[in-house]
Amino acid sequence: MSEKITLPPVSYTGWGSLSHLLEEIKRFNAQKILVVTDPFLLDLGLTNKVVAPLEEAGYLTEIYTEVVPEPPLAIGEKLVTYTRVNGFDMVIGVGGGSALDLAKLAGVLASHEGNVADYLNLTGTKQVTKKGLPTILIPTTSGTGSEVTNISVLSLETTKDVVTHDYLLADVAIVDPALTISLPPKVTAATGVDALTHAVEAYISKNASPVSDALALQAIRLISNSIRTAVSNGEDKQGRTDMSYGSYLAGLAFFNAGVAGVHALAYPIGGQFHIAHGDSNAVLLPYVMGYIRQSCEKRMKDIYEAMGFSSTNLSQEEASYKCVAELKRLVEDVNIPSTLKGFNITEDALDSLTSDAIEQKRILARSPMPLLKEDIYAIYKAAYNGI
Ligand code: NAD
Repeated sequence: MSEKITLPPVSYTGWGSLSHLLEEIKRFNAQKILVVTDPFLLDLGLTNKVVAPLEEAGYLTEIYTEVVPEPPLAIGEKLVTYTRVNGFDMVIGVGGGSALDLAKLAGVLASHEGNVADYLNLTGTKQVTKKGLPTILIPTTSGTGSEVTNISVLSLETTKDVVTHDYLLADVAIVDPALTISLPPKVTAATGVDALTHAVEAYISKNASPVSDALALQAIRLISNSIRTAVSNGEDKQGRTDMSYGSYLAGLAFFNAGVAGVHALAYPIGGQFHIAHGDSNAVLLPYVMGYIRQSCEKRMKDIYEAMGFSSTNLSQEEASYKCVAELKRLVEDVNIPSTLKGFNITEDALDSLTSDAIEQKRILARSPMPLLKEDIYAIYKAAYNGI
């Protein structure tokens, strides 16, 4: 058996890595640069850490701030049109997954025709066929891994869909934990559990390989060990650094091995209730893993160990139960509600959530245990009741 491993061409990681930005831009002969960011980050002064050195160096920069969390398709359409008509020769994304996903979308679709909707995975009819503008992605959350994936996620009316192609991969990713210091505890928690979910789902994915396993297990070690500190003391440099490396590794892991049941069930929660992606994943993680536990006991034992627990004297079955309990404890420790009720989701929504989740066939196909409609409903029901 062989696997395709795709890694983005260049990444800079570690504290202060933003200092490499100018030398990278020079490689692309860019003059007019579009910076896609969200308005909150502009007010916070974070965007300026990227833009000020560019302007000092004489680059023409335009800051585009029509970015909202979990961006709807319409926001993507507007940005792509704006990029096409304004003749940029580079795109830089600065922000969480929402800004980065829009930046890579604009970069690639600037060189294509038609609407963004035409390129959506579930309902689109067109394919991405060529490389767009050079793109540099600079995350300010430790969560999505968007800086190293070829995926752009967009919110639709009741669920989410993606545009995905290797041409959406950033030319350069700059993952500087110093940019995450200002993340409030709630966002640190949600984005951090999102990254943990990427690593866990990549590790139990049917498409896992020795390469994605190595990335996923190290991500689980780093995130499990640092997330509580990063949430309780955001200024802790080591905690932020470990979270930054953890989310980066988790991004590489899931980009190559894929995510599975948690994400398939989380997308409709995000779509129907506008709950942050990290929170939707976090609330489901223990219940999906509890439901599919028997199909991947050995791997759950490995995850339990990577979370820092000894499984000596435990059977695989015992360790897998403990793994589910520790995942739930972690979610609770970082103050994320651990039931759907905790997000004010009512029981009558479980049917429509199930109908939307079953449509995520490509993602569900990677689950080590097949998840049919009745399984999905049962997981939502368990997450609703908290058992
Ligand atoms: P986000 O980008 O929506 O940001 C969440 C909030 O945090 C925003 O209000 C933002 O202003 C704020 N924020 C960001 N950085 C900050 C900082 N350093 N200091 C203070 N506040 C800061 O959140 P996210 O979880 O990073 O991204 C979510 C989006 O990414 C969703 O649309 C999700 O579907 C998508 N996603 C994409 C991929 C991918 O591979 N492309 C993977 C997972 C999720």
